Amino acid sequence: MGLIRSDDVIESVADALQHISYYHPIDYIEALGQAYALEESPAARDAIAQILTNSRMCAEGHRPICQDTGIVVAFVKVGMGVRWETSGSGAMTLDQMINEGVRRAYGHPDNRLRASIVADPAFSRVNTRDNTPAVTHVEMVPGDHLEIALAAKGGGSENKSKLVMLNPSDSITDWVVKTVPLMGAGWCPPGMLGIGIGGTAEKAAVLAKESLMQPIDMAALKARGAQSRIEALRIEIHDAVNALGIGAQGLGGLSTILDVKILDYPTHAASKPVAMIPNCAATRHAHLHLDGSGPAWLPAPDLARWPKVDWKPSPEAVPVDLDRLTPEIVAGWKAGDRLLLNGRMLTGRDAAHKRMVDMLDRGETLPVDFTNRLIYYVGPVDPVRDEVVGPAGPTTATRMDKFTETMLARTGLIAMVGKAERGPGGIEAIAKHKAAYLMAVGGAAYLVARAIKAARLLAFEDLGMEAIYEFEVKDMPVTVAVDSTGTSVHQTGPAEWARRIAERAGERASTAAAGA
Ligand code: SF4
Repeated sequence: MGLIRSDDVIESVADALQHISYYHPIDYIEALGQAYALEESPAARDAIAQILTNSRMCAEGHRPICQDTGIVVAFVKVGMGVRWETSGSGAMTLDQMINEGVRRAYGHPDNRLRASIVADPAFSRVNTRDNTPAVTHVEMVPGDHLEIALAAKGGGSENKSKLVMLNPSDSITDWVVKTVPLMGAGWCPPGMLGIGIGGTAEKAAVLAKESLMQPIDMAALKARGAQSRIEALRIEIHDAVNALGIGAQGLGGLSTILDVKILDYPTHAASKPVAMIPNCAATRHAHLHLDGSGPAWLPAPDLARWPKVDWKPSPEAVPVDLDRLTPEIVAGWKAGDRLLLNGRMLTGRDAAHKRMVDMLDRGETLPVDFTNRLIYYVGPVDPVRDEVVGPAGPTTATRMDKFTETMLARTGLIAMVGKAERGPGGIEAIAKHKAAYLMAVGGAAYLVARAIKAARLLAFEDLGMEAIYEFEVKDMPVTVAVDSTGTSVHQTGPAEWARRIAERAGERASTAAAGA
C-alpha cells in the first residue's frame, strides 16, 4: 500500500493546471475540427477557425487558451486504504495540498495565469491574488490509490448554469430546449452540456459538473447506437439543442454543442432535480492517478492531431482607424460587418464600470476621457517574457448592460467590444445613442492578444486585471454584433439557422415518407 506524499499531490496538481491552461483535450479539439469541417454558416465557421488557430498557438507557445484561466474544481476519489504523510512539513489536509498546487500553477513565472478568485463574494470581493481556493469534492472509494479529476472552469460558462426541480412526469429534453436559448452565448459555444439528474438539488449540480470531466464521444455513440436510456437521452438532447441553430459564439450555425454528458442518482419519489452546466470553448480538464510512487505527470499531446486550420482575416473585413473614430463612422456600420480595428482603444469591465458610474452619480470627473472612444471589455492575463499583454480575449458583454446607458449618455463613448450578445437594456441604449457593439471571439484570447501592440495603464490600478488600460491594436478582428439601429446578429443569426435546419428536417421527413 503506497504512502501518498503531500509534495506528490502538490506537484501533480500544479503540473496538470499548467498543462490544461495551454493544451485543449484532444477529444475536444478533434470534435471541434469535425464541427469546423461540417459548418456551413460563414460567421460560425470563422469563429471556430479562430478558436482552433488559437488552440494551436497556445499549445505551441505554452500560454493560456483563454484570458479567463478559470476557477479550479477538483473531484478527488480517495482509496479507503490510502496512507498519508502525517508529520513535518508534509502534514497537510487534502484541501491545503490542492490549494498549494493551484498557487504554484497560477504563479508559474514562465506562464503566469490570471488570478480570478475573489473572497467575501457578497460584499468586498477582494481578489485572493493566487487563484485559491479551489472547489474540492472528495469521495471515499475502495482501493489504495488517489484519483484526481481537475478542471479550470471559466466564469462565462459557469454563470450560465441552471437548476430546476421538475415534476416527475416532466420532459427533461423539453426543459433543456426551452432553457438553452435563455443562456445566450456568453458560455462561448461550441462546447458541451453537463446534466445531472436526481438526488437532491445540490447533488444534481455536482453530478452535472462531474459529468463534464468525461471525454467527448458523441460521434462514436451515434455510430454504435444507444445502449441505455441515458445514452438515448444524450443523443436526443444533442440533436434538439443543435437544431436551435444558435451556433458558434451564438452567431447562428449547425454546431452549438459537441456532446451532452449525463450522470444520474436515485431521488425522492416527489422530485426530479435537473442541473445543467455548460462547458465552453476553453474546455480544460485533466485526470491524475497517484499510487504512492511519485507525482503524476501528463504527457504532452501530439500537435499533429490538431486540425490544420490557420485562421486569416476575411478579405471582406474593413480596416477601422480608431484614432479617427466619429459617431458618423460608427452609425454607418451594419450588423454582421467584419472589421479590423487599428489604433488606440480603452479597456474596462465590471468593477471599472461600477466605479465610473458611481463617480458620475456623485458628480465627479472620470480619470479617462471617453469622447469618441471605444471600450474593450477585457481582463487580460499578466504578460510574460516579451509580451506587451498576456492573452486578452473579450468578456461577457451583458454584464455591462446596466452601465451602458450611463456610459453612452454621459461619457462620450461611442462603441464597445465584448463577447456574445447584448441584452434588451444594452440594445436599447445602443440604438438610442446611435452607438455600436462589436464582438470578438471568446476562447481565442491568445490570437486576439497578438493584435495588441502596446498597453498602458491609465486608471484604477488597484483593480488589477480589471484596471483601465489603453491598448494599441493592429488588425484586431471583430464583427458588428449590434449596429446603431439596434439590429443584433445574435437574434438574426440563430433565427435564420433554426429555420434552415427545420426546413432540412422537413425535407428529410418528406423524402422518407415518400419512400415508405
Ligand atoms: S472560452 Fe469563454 S466562457 Fe470559457 S473561459 Fe474563455 S471567455 Fe470564459
